[in-house]
Amino acid sequence: MAPRIIILGRQGAGKGTQCARLVAEHGIVHVSTGDMLRAAVAAGTELGKQAEAIMSSGGLVSDEIMNGIVAERLAESDISENGVLLDGFPRTTVQAETLEQIFADQGVELTAVINIDVPLEEVTERMMARGRDDDTKEAIEERLRNYEAQTAPLLDFYAERNKLVVIDGLGNEDTVFARVQGALAL
Ligand code: ADP
Repeated sequence: MAPRIIILGRQGAGKGTQCARLVAEHGIVHVSTGDMLRAAVAAGTELGKQAEAIMSSGGLVSDEIMNGIVAERLAESDISENGVLLDGFPRTTVQAETLEQIFADQGVELTAVINIDVPLEEVTERMMARGRDDDTKEAIEERLRNYEAQTAPLLDFYAERNKLVVIDGLGNEDTVFARVQGALAL
């Protein structure tokens, strides 16, 4: 069956880089909710208008909106054929429960959840250095606080379901990718 993988990790942990490598290697479809929201902001859609202020303050877009966007995307045929790599979703327990229901309704199984583990001080430094538009110091701190409060509980959620693999995210791109590949064994 086509793989369905969730990638977790603090902002700045290197999720984007590892996702690009996985997609190139395995032909899985990359679904990044951050990219989807940024595209909506750039296009000036109704969703983009709602999301813009929330994103620049480092807050989270509502579960209701996110669940709708992702449910719609997961229904598309490229994903049923090639599998999916979810990046930025789920970010809350409500989103994780919704995703579980979507997969159950589709009759498919979650393959694995990979947590790229990088300590807080290291990710803060990395993000300050990359200088993306929404990477102000306040927004970074807010996003990391949100991660600990809302997303870190998902580690337990998936560990309980025997789906969680923790990868050491320190080291260069190749080293980390080798660990990811070893853990997935696709
Ligand atoms: P980062 O990992 O640096 O926070 P992302 O690109 O994943 O960046 O997301 C950027 C912003 O988009 C988030 O800070 C948040 O405001 C919003 N966002 C993305 N995915 C979700 C989600 N699943 N639930 C709520 N908000 C989201």
